[in-house]
Amino acid sequence: MKGNQLYLDGVTVMFDGFRALNNLSIIVEPGEMRAVIGPNGAGKTTMMDVITGKTRPTKGTVRFGDHDLTRMDEAAIANLGIGRKFQKPTVFDALTVFENLELALKAPRGPFACLRWALGGAARSRIEQVQDEIGLTARAGDRAAILSHGQRQWLEIGMLLMQDPQLLLVDEPVAGMTDQETEHTAALLRRIAGERSVVVVEHDLEFVRALGQKVTVLHEGTMLSEGAIDHVQNDPRVIEVYLGR
Ligand code: ADP
Repeated sequence: MKGNQLYLDGVTVMFDGFRALNNLSIIVEPGEMRAVIGPNGAGKTTMMDVITGKTRPTKGTVRFGDHDLTRMDEAAIANLGIGRKFQKPTVFDALTVFENLELALKAPRGPFACLRWALGGAARSRIEQVQDEIGLTARAGDRAAILSHGQRQWLEIGMLLMQDPQLLLVDEPVAGMTDQETEHTAALLRRIAGERSVVVVEHDLEFVRALGQKVTVLHEGTMLSEGAIDHVQNDPRVIEVYLGR
């Protein structure tokens, strides 16, 4: 399997004496999909921020393959092929689905950046391939403004895929989605993983179950439990701090 292992070792983040992350260690293998759950304030967002270089660890190491991310700035980390999708989609309403993907291809990073001057065969077929992967081929000529909430989220995932990330970080992708949209999103992320690593932060446990992958439960900035969804849901520590509420 090509790609890099994501490795957090003993990561602590202090904000004015408060430990948002407390000695957190997590490994995500190349091609793995990992769901991260935990109550509000558990440190999920801070963990994503530390991986992308938005926040620097006070202590500990973050590595992606041979790269020490703790010494890199956000742009350099993005250039390694680490993409992040925030909860709120940032697509361009006035542009069509195809044009949004085209714009993402033109962004100056990723192995496909060389195609950006010639929207000829190769670039077009790359856009069409991603359009198909996210299930929006029939909507190619529609402006993003008229897409449903779920379709906008898939379009933004597609825009990230245009950058050919090795690791995709996804923040609460199914918040506000219908059941059908949630199912589509689980299937999409399952397809993406394998070729790339995916870390998904999510509250919706049914969605996490549908992903069918290893789950990490965070609590008070550290790892409380890890394993299959059935394992963590039955872990008494998890029931006490999270699921039992
Ligand atoms: P989650 O995403 O799991 O809800 P966060 O990572 O957002 O948790 O936050 C973890 C803890 O760190 C929370 O108690 C939050 O209030 C605190 N925190 C996060 N960012 C900051 C910051 N910039 N300054 C001070 N405290 C922060």
